[in-house]
Amino acid sequence: MLGPEIYHRDALSLGAAASLSASCYIEAHDTAALEAVAESSSRIDSGGVIASVALDVKWLRNDAVDELIEVLRGISRPVALTLGGQFNPTDAHTTSIPNLRRIYRECGHVGLWRVDVLVGFDAMVHGALFAGIGNSGTLRHLVPPDEKPRFGGGGGRPAVYIPKLMQYFSLDTLTDRWTQVGGLICDCPVCEGRAPTWMAELSEGMRAAAADHNLWCWLRLWEELDEGSSAERASRLADRIVAAVEAHTEESERVGALGAFKPSPTLATMAKLAALTPEAARTPAP
Ligand SMILES: [Zn+2]
Repeated sequence: MLGPEIYHRDALSLGAAASLSASCYIEAHDTAALEAVAESSSRIDSGGVIASVALDVKWLRNDAVDELIEVLRGISRPVALTLGGQFNPTDAHTTSIPNLRRIYRECGHVGLWRVDVLVGFDAMVHGALFAGIGNSGTLRHLVPPDEKPRFGGGGGRPAVYIPKLMQYFSLDTLTDRWTQVGGLICDCPVCEGRAPTWMAELSEGMRAAAADHNLWCWLRLWEELDEGSSAERASRLADRIVAAVEAHTEESERVGALGAFKPSPTLATMAKLAALTPEAARTPAP
């Protein structure tokens, strides 16, 4: 036996819960490549294999998503979508989040792989099969293979997740913004009541501390969200998102600089979607 089949069987026989199939990077509207990836995953005999589909985020525009859904629905095994683009891929198009929710709803067997906390949680309360949250920038999205990774001015330092703002910030950015007034404190076991900027002083272990802090923060947040029906979970997340957008304004006022903290396009889009949802539907009767 040669090729990927033996790889999957080895992984599963050694105790892996699942194995991911291979995918090339699929540019928007390259239906031939999308169908080839779908077909190659269906030729694998082993159970426990998840079909990996690595897509450029332009597939989530309105002119491409119907085509994508049609192919994904034809895949007979669970599908892990990985989104490609610079920075946070879903920030590139306002259609990304509504069309992702449509994919979860209409396909039923699709999850997200290598995403950030916000998009991962949104997936989990809107019908995705699973979400794999990356604990470093390079594990939260794909960079198109013909492009160099572009960075958001982090100076090579890790990004830390701030739960109140539901967003990642580089340690350099936070240190700059919080110099005069002190930062938002974090009571996770890594920070122990300090603002996460304490990590910027570390000569070694900074990345590990940031990764541990990020993990603690999103696990705690998920514990709060992961109760009740899916409608209740979606309602709770929508409320958190609206509060997070307001918290950006409050935090900017606190540090005395208008716009110092700005919601990402994805967070802003989710807040607009939350506002569109009737209050009665977002808050189930007791
Ligand atoms: Zn912390």
